[in-house]
Formats: sequence, C-alpha cells, structure tokens
Amino acid sequence: MKDHKSQTRRTRTQLVHGGTKRSQWGELSEAMFLTQGFAYDSAAQAEARFIEAGEDEYIYARYGNPTVRMFEERIALLEGAEDGFATASGMAAVNGALAAMLKAGDHVVGARALFGSCLYILEEILPRYGVEVTLVDGTDLDAWEAALRPDTKAVFFESMSNPTLEVIDIEGVAKLAHKVGATVVVDNVFSTPVYSKALEQGADVVIYSATKHIDGQGRTLGGVILGTREFIRKTVEPYMKHTGGSMSPFTAWVLLKGLETIDLRVRAQTETAEALALRLKGHPALRRVIYPGLADHPQHDLAQRQLGAGGTMLSFDVAGGKAAAFAMLDALEVVLISNNLGDAKSIATHPATTTHSRLSEEMRAELGIGDGLIRLSVGLEDPEDLAEDILGALAQA
Ligand SMILES: *Cc1c(COP(=O)(O)O)cnc(C)c1O
Repeated sequence: MKDHKSQTRRTRTQLVHGGTKRSQWGELSEAMFLTQGFAYDSAAQAEARFIEAGEDEYIYARYGNPTVRMFEERIALLEGAEDGFATASGMAAVNGALAAMLKAGDHVVGARALFGSCLYILEEILPRYGVEVTLVDGTDLDAWEAALRPDTKAVFFESMSNPTLEVIDIEGVAKLAHKVGATVVVDNVFSTPVYSKALEQGADVVIYSATKHIDGQGRTLGGVILGTREFIRKTVEPYMKHTGGSMSPFTAWVLLKGLETIDLRVRAQTETAEALALRLKGHPALRRVIYPGLADHPQHDLAQRQLGAGGTMLSFDVAGGKAAAFAMLDALEVVLISNNLGDAKSIATHPATTTHSRLSEEMRAELGIGDGLIRLSVGLEDPEDLAEDILGALAQA
C-alpha cells in the first residue's frame, strides 16, 4: 500500500494525501476512528505503552487518536511546523498554548486588538493566576519594545486583527521578543494557513481556530497549536491531555476533508474579496474600505511581504452610522448576517453591536470600530452575485 510519501511533495499534494494512515482495509478516504479507547494485545503491551507510547501507538482519545493524528500531521505540513496538537476549539488552542507555558509571576505582552475571547483570557483569566499582562498597540513596534521586559515569557497577537484588519509585523515583533527570550505566539486565523509563513518570519507558536477557513463550511468547532516537536509534545500535550480540551475524531475527520480543499477555497475567496474591495472603494455611501490588498491600506506593503495576499476578509464603514449599517445588512439577499468567518457562505457582521459589544465605547473608538463598520467574510458564491447584492444593499443605506 502507498504510504505517506506526500511529506516531500508540494502543498496541494500534501493537503490531499499528507498524514494519511490506512488500516488493513486500504480505505481510500481517511477513516473516522470513533473510538475513545484502544485494546492491547497483552498486559505487557499495555504496560509498555504507558511507559512510553511510540508513534501511532494510542492509549486514550484524550491523549491521541489516529484520525486526530492525521489532521495534526496534515496541518503541520501545510504550516511547515514540526508538530501540532489538535484542540476542541480555537479558544482551547489559545488557552492551551498560553496556560501550558505560563506560571504565576510571568509577564505577557499582547496586542490590544483581539478577538473577544482572546482578550478575556489575557485580561481576566491569566491575571487571576498571577500572570501580569501588558496590552499594546500591535502595529507600533516602539510600543512592543517599551513593554517587553526580562521577565516577559510570551507575546501574543493576532497577525491580522479583527475587525479592522490591521496587519502586525511578525518578523519585527519576533526580533524584539526574542531579545528578551519571550516565546512568540501568533493567532493566525485571519491570515489563514494558506498564506502563512509565520514560523519562517519568527513566530514560535502558531494557532488556528479550525472552525474558520480550515473547515470553511460551518460544520464544526476545532483548533490547533503548531510549533516545534519539543514544545508541542513536552509543553502542550501534557497540559491538553490532562485538562480535556482535545479534538474529537469526528471533528478531525471533517477538518481533514476541509484541508483537502482549503487552498482552492481560500485563494478563490481572496480573489473575490480583492475584486469587491476595488468595486467598493470610493463608494459614496462608505466612509472607508479596509482591505490589506488595497494599496491605501496602512500596512499594505507589510501584508504583501508577510502574506503575499490581502486575504478573505474586508471591512467597510457605512457613512450613515448604525441605522444605515443595519439598513444595508437587512437589505442583503445573498450575504448572510452572522458572526462566523472563513466560510463558503459570505457573512456580514456588525461588530459594534455583536462581536465587540462587550467593549467600552472608548475602547471601540480606539480600535476604530465605529457604529457604521461592517465586517465581510467573503465566501465562494459567484463574485458578480456578491457585488450586485452588496452594491444593491448599499443603495438602501
Ligand atoms: C474564531 C476565532 C477564535 C476562536 O475560535 P473558536 O474555534 O471559535 O473557539 C480565536 N481567534 C480568532 C482570531 C478567531 O477569529
């Protein structure tokens, strides 16, 4: 039977074949090993496995499962990481990566513009366990430098922020962080694993919510922590396997299928997002259009260097504020109102009243999340239908 020689092949081949483990039946599609436990040939084999489980030796699904392992190997190949640990959700990955390495007395520097639950971990949970957290403007390298200290153990940021699509300089932050010996943890969801070169650019740990582009079809929650084999197996695995945030085999199977098509999907979604951004730019009903692929984006050059693309997300500020933004959203016929992203279905979000409603008004103003701001996750529909839908809805705003 053909084994996984795809390890040495190019990305799209790896995404279809990488990490595949076949049973004695030679099944074509990856098997879904819906089992929580594994039977041993003998008592001695059980003993040996508890002393040290070798590769492809399993004990209990919270520790590892063949379908989950296939997903970990395939996403690690895509990212160019030595290893990965799959988690029950993106937040289990963020929390797991940080909690596994930090202890009371440690210091963390984070970028201020964060997904709400990431902000909650940094602002509410870590301090409760004696970890000191400093938040900075992630786009300002001087601010990072000023906040870093000899006792800074980790820095954490989203490489492209939500919902204002600021791009943070991974290489620049990593250089500063490594000077004090801090581990660079990057939440790379908006950048997507398709465009990411985060590890090459200096990140030590890369995190994805697999719920987003990796599934890309709205079916499941999942996450993954990627890094060196040493970090994943010695630091992350013990924490995750004993605290219960592991991925289910069913989820891993869905996500393996997602990985088969992620390159095609994300590139098509990006192409449409770029075309829409160009069509919307200068529209009289809009105050601004934010898309890292547009030449007027404040970090356009950085986005080109870091990702080589503008990504699948774009945001725009409707001039008439909340009432106009709501009128526009309600007039959409193809694009759905929801708060997910990275999906085959295009999704529009009003961050000020949903994903970012927990923030104070001052904080929203500081982050540029106005009452007219709409975030658009561009899907796989026909680009012309999307353009007609959005331009038609804007006429109502
Ligand atoms: C969605 C998201 C998460 C959390 O992922 P879940 O799978 O919903 O737990 C974390 N960070 C970013 C940037 C996200 O967009």
